[in-house]
Amino acid sequence: MMNKKVQAAVNGQIQIEQYSSYLYLAMSAYCESKNLKGFAHWLKIQSQEEQTHAMKLYQHVLDRGGKIELKEIAAPGTEFGAPLELFEKVLAHEIEITGKINALYEIALKEKDYPLQLLLHWFIEEQVEEEAAASEALERLRLIGDKGGSIIYIDKEMGKRSS
Ligand code: MG
Repeated sequence: MMNKKVQAAVNGQIQIEQYSSYLYLAMSAYCESKNLKGFAHWLKIQSQEEQTHAMKLYQHVLDRGGKIELKEIAAPGTEFGAPLELFEKVLAHEIEITGKINALYEIALKEKDYPLQLLLHWFIEEQVEEEAAASEALERLRLIGDKGGSIIYIDKEMGKRSS
């Protein structure tokens, strides 16, 4: 069983992961509309990955006899600027998510919720990868600036993401 405080916090994190999925899907659609199909592909996979994060937490709540309370998901917007600006937003978002995961872990520690602590170890590691992937893309974009030919090259590279 989960206590109510932990349950509410995990439900909150499910909403955050769903919002992340929604945000990256909106970014993917935006890139596709700009003919940046590689970026669109990368972001669509990222969006799907966020879904799996939400579902890991969702299943954890149900497996422990807790209650799922799905919340409203905010609209993520439609305009995200040039690829460099967009990836600045991706990295800033992932840094924010890391903070949320850490805060959830704090609650799990305080409430002595050991199963949730274990699950969150996975999320804590995952956030290291998420920030690294966003940083890598951003650094590449910073290196080349917004030169059209180079953007096309990076777009192709981003299109190779398989998972
Ligand atoms: Mg996530």
